[in-house]
Amino acid sequence: RSGQRWTLRIAELSEGDRIIFLSDRSAIDAADRMRSDFVANASHELRTPLAAILGYVETLHDLTGETDVPTRRRFLSIIEREARRMQQLVIDLLSISRVEADRFRRPTTPVDLAAIVRTTIAQLQDSEEARPKDIIALPGDAAVPVLGDEAQLAQLVHNIISNALKYGRAGTPVTVELIPEEGRVRLSVSDEGDGIAPDHLPRLTERFYRVDEARSRSVGGTGLGLAIVKHIAERHRGQLDIASEPGKGTRVSVVFPLAA
Ligand code: ADP
Repeated sequence: RSGQRWTLRIAELSEGDRIIFLSDRSAIDAADRMRSDFVANASHELRTPLAAILGYVETLHDLTGETDVPTRRRFLSIIEREARRMQQLVIDLLSISRVEADRFRRPTTPVDLAAIVRTTIAQLQDSEEARPKDIIALPGDAAVPVLGDEAQLAQLVHNIISNALKYGRAGTPVTVELIPEEGRVRLSVSDEGDGIAPDHLPRLTERFYRVDEARSRSVGGTGLGLAIVKHIAERHRGQLDIASEPGKGTRVSVVFPLAA
């Protein structure tokens, strides 16, 4: 097929026998391309706030003695905001590489998903990100055992709920549920935000993919949150599903097998 590349190797055995290896290079080429795209995207994402920081630092250096304090403060706030953006990006980049490195190591320890959900909600409610009373949690008191890595599951829950808070409409609730299913449990997070048009849905878990880049930036997004969610879900044999109705809201769910 066009665009397909093959590698041919011939190994000579004794008595004139040969083994011929024919391997399809296109999967390896695609992985190489993805890796170099990722490095290019990450560099671009880091370069933008870095350029802003250097620009404002230079301007501050050049300011004359009479420049008013509010202007200096404003510049410093911008520098701080851009530095925090870079910090979050570096944190997310490290997370994604750690989760990827763990990809083939299935977790073997039972953890309580309900406790993880409750703790994560409490942390979000304490942070500036959430507005109190925004989150309606229905995980109940019963333990929900799944085989998992506690820190990674907490990150998955955090990323999904924090998206619902970021992209939900102010004043509308975010509902978090743990729904038992046959041998499984469904973590479901629903918001009443603007929703996502159907053609974007399949691409949301790609690294750095955003429906609206300016909006994502303004709410402090890095474009890596759902890529991290996808990797963590896969490692835990969880099925991620994103359903959305434009104008009505979004429901993100992950179905995990219960620990026996
Ligand atoms: P970001 O850091 O930009 O939020 P994510 O990987 O977490 O990156 O999400 C990718 C994109 O998916 C977001 O930029 C946003 O456009 C869209 N998205 C994610 N969750 C929601 C949601 N609950 N409602 C509407 N859009 C969402």
